[in-house]
Amino acid sequence: MNPDAVYERIGALGFRRWYERQLVESHLWFASCFVAMILVAAGLELLTLENGVADFAFDAALIAGGCALGWVSWRRYVRQMVLAEAIGEQASCAACRHYGFRCLAVERGRLRACCPKCGNQWLLEDPFEGADS
Ligand SMILES: [Zn+2]
Repeated sequence: MNPDAVYERIGALGFRRWYERQLVESHLWFASCFVAMILVAAGLELLTLENGVADFAFDAALIAGGCALGWVSWRRYVRQMVLAEAIGEQASCAACRHYGFRCLAVERGRLRACCPKCGNQWLLEDPFEGADS
């Protein structure tokens, strides 16, 4: 996930709406991971050579497709949840405890946040630091 694109999106939507969407999107990925598990289970259940090679190939493709979908869905689910958690942890104003912030700018790869209630400013720790991709 590109940090600039994420910060741009937070700036456009506002933190709270961005956070809400992150949770909704990541849970949709989680649901698709569950669908993938059903595809794999169905493929394994149907897998037999009794009905011919074409049928066997279809069932094997169902298993392979389910595994691929499951892997991609799980990765996206985890990545979005970790990002939402990392930014959400830093969303409270240290001065007045208000939850949520407005984006002011991106400075050296970090987001400068501003409290909409008291005007306090702080830099968010880089949630992408140490990310594998
Ligand atoms: Zn504040």
